[in-house]
Amino acid sequence: MRLVLVGPPGAGKGTQAEFISAHFAIPHISTGDIFRANLSAGTPLGLEAKGYMDKGDLVPDSLTTAMVKDRLQQGDVANGFLLDGFPRTTGQAEALDGILREINTPLEVVLEMQADEDEIVGRLLARGRSDDSEEVIRHRLKVYAEQTAPIISYYKNSGILRTINGLGSVAEVTERAISALSR
Ligand code: ADP
Repeated sequence: MRLVLVGPPGAGKGTQAEFISAHFAIPHISTGDIFRANLSAGTPLGLEAKGYMDKGDLVPDSLTTAMVKDRLQQGDVANGFLLDGFPRTTGQAEALDGILREINTPLEVVLEMQADEDEIVGRLLARGRSDDSEEVIRHRLKVYAEQTAPIISYYKNSGILRTINGLGSVAEVTERAISALSR
């Protein structure tokens, strides 16, 4: 299964991604996690990404796309993958299509997780990551609406979009996700 999870920050993508990747035995690839790992290792990529992440801005497409292309060339994605947090712009979505076309393995499903803004802000404040101050959260939500939400119509047009409600207990949402993906 070649799958993308999309939804606003705080919709629960990372949590559900763990369950979904275990269920389908595919690697969970989170661009946010890869950036944070580079940051703690002090790599040039991490240092470059830091300024954007701290402000809640997107890291430029060129950097992000090159990083994902590299990741998708590793052997463990032969049976599929779950991308979490990528693509986040239409440019990234087009680049991903290009990368997958080259290896003749098109994307199969894009799962959209919906959650309303008040719930999201509450969850992110409770999470308390360093880029989770209320001001940065509001900015990330604005960036989501402006730059990421357009990829939802992009995938709707290509007929691979499935949408679930991200509110409820973790187990309830996992059940919705697995059943939406098993249809
Ligand atoms: P969230 O939990 O808010 O969805 P992530 O862990 O997915 O956050 O990402 C944290 C930060 O990493 C983002 O605010 C952004 O700066 C950067 N980032 C992650 N994925 C991407 C991407 N696909 N394109 C650009 N920037 C990204």
